[in-house]
Amino acid sequence: MQIRRWLLAGRRSIAVVAQDRLVARRVRALLERAQILVQDETGWTFATLAVSAVLMRWLEAVQGDFYYQDVLDLMKSPYVFADQPASERKQAVYQLERLLREHQVAARLEEFQRLAESDELRHALLRLQQAAQRLPTGREFTLIGWLERLEQSLDSLGVLTGWAQDAAGRELLQLLAQWREELADDRSRFSFPEWRRWLAQQLDLNTFRDSSVESPVVFTHLAATRWRRFDAVLLLGCDADHLPGDLSGGQWFNDAVRGALGLPVTAQKIQQVQDDLRGLLALNDTMLVTWQEIKNGEPNLLSPWLELLRAQLKDDLTERELAPMLERAQVQPEASPAPQPLDMPQPSAATELLPQRISPSGYNTLMACPYQYYAKYILRLDDLDEVREALDKRDYGNWVHQILQRFHGEFPQLTGLPRPELEAQLSRISEEVFAIAVQHDFLAHGWRVRWQAQQASYLDWQLESEQQGWRFAAAEQIYSLEVDDSLLLHGRLDRLDANTDGAQRVLDYKTKDKASLTGLLKQPGEDVQLASYAALSDSAAATFLSLDDSKTVASVQPDQAMDELAALNLARLKEIFGQLRAGAALPANGVDKVCEYCAMRGLCRKGWWAER
Ligand code: SF4
Repeated sequence: MQIRRWLLAGRRSIAVVAQDRLVARRVRALLERAQILVQDETGWTFATLAVSAVLMRWLEAVQGDFYYQDVLDLMKSPYVFADQPASERKQAVYQLERLLREHQVAARLEEFQRLAESDELRHALLRLQQAAQRLPTGREFTLIGWLERLEQSLDSLGVLTGWAQDAAGRELLQLLAQWREELADDRSRFSFPEWRRWLAQQLDLNTFRDSSVESPVVFTHLAATRWRRFDAVLLLGCDADHLPGDLSGGQWFNDAVRGALGLPVTAQKIQQVQDDLRGLLALNDTMLVTWQEIKNGEPNLLSPWLELLRAQLKDDLTERELAPMLERAQVQPEASPAPQPLDMPQPSAATELLPQRISPSGYNTLMACPYQYYAKYILRLDDLDEVREALDKRDYGNWVHQILQRFHGEFPQLTGLPRPELEAQLSRISEEVFAIAVQHDFLAHGWRVRWQAQQASYLDWQLESEQQGWRFAAAEQIYSLEVDDSLLLHGRLDRLDANTDGAQRVLDYKTKDKASLTGLLKQPGEDVQLASYAALSDSAAATFLSLDDSKTVASVQPDQAMDELAALNLARLKEIFGQLRAGAALPANGVDKVCEYCAMRGLCRKGWWAER
């Protein structure tokens, strides 16, 4: 408020001397809200700037075996591939992100290259590979050797082109050139991590000043005010902690060593600050000093030097005009319309947006919460999958599916084969599948042991099933079925068995225990998965096969006749889509158990209306 008053009074040179950087940032934000730009002489350390972030991200990616998060952050920076159209870079990074999440790949450039589908992405990854080759992380070089290699690799990435178009980037380029010149005679050799630490420290020590803003309001520091006159000075953050501040020692030596080396010691530095403050007071007529009087509920003392000044002048020098004006002087953001109370959303979808295909899991979502289906499958707002860095039960489920598919592909019928042979073959296939998993994560051994404990039980179950006349017929087959003229039900079945009478049975492998699967089927029609699979494959039976760690493999099926359930399930789907085409609403009526894991919660805003 005082700065605005000074400006209104025609002052054309106002210094804001920031003793406390945090307060300075807040003041700057407040001034910008009042549309007063400031000229910043204190600047920002390079380590906090986007131009350096791209540099450090690149080094992290190279050192961290191209961890996906580093690579995505790097490729999202506008400084990377700045010599290409921005749309190509965006296209490449979007594709990469999708592929990594789809295939659950967390690191390694070769893995990314294996997945790449488009020329843009292949080209971008090739550039990363070529740039990385210029930074051999296992070797040692002089600082200058590393800096030269860094520039070559950044050039391969187009970063130097990007920096050249940016004021901070141009200064960073100058800084790199300056370090190369200064270090020309240094022959010490450093490993990659040592050099990276040195570089990070340099970026932290050097400051960028934006000279593009010209303003009567200048942010500066005490030492920079020597022999300068201003129309007015605001001295920010002058509590006892910040004036004179912590000036003890240096980064490496204590005062005794510094004194012996002829370097300035703490007392001299304090003296310098005091001189600077005296000079500022002597040269400038108008000055306002601020500090935070109460901090965390405790009194926060004014700097002892300023207390001394008060005592000498026999005046507490308190400013009394500003406080009464404070409320009226607040900069208000533009008035926005008052928020309307929210109700449960229940949109209806335009007919042309309704999907023409639905999977059993989509159908399940529609039954669990129509609004979730609307957001996910009609508006297609599904969020991207997380890249899972640690193995979890989903991976385990995938491996078990693979093992059983391969096992029954080789041995469609087990009856008649010696049991030791069956156990050996199932173990062999299991080992082969888990060997690939272990390459990526050692913890896959744990899941392997878990599966090993179930193999005997699985063979028992399979042999008994064959005794009942069932034979393995197919695995991982895709089926589709016309629900009506405009809707197709489609899905991939884990496994299909057939018996000697020609009847079929669908098997759905689940890594869940028997009790939770039984719970799923308790309410007829609630679970649509088995009934949909039965309809898709025209099977008379469908069952879950529990492959949990209880060591006992068990099948779980509904009590009702499956053909009847399948027919009703299909009729219901047809009816629902008929209603949706007629404009029926899709309310957000999911139960709490469903909402707990719903990615659309932020969209339906259940938290806002559910309480009302
Ligand atoms: S949070 Fe609940 S109510 Fe909202 S969309 Fe998800 S499942 Fe439906």
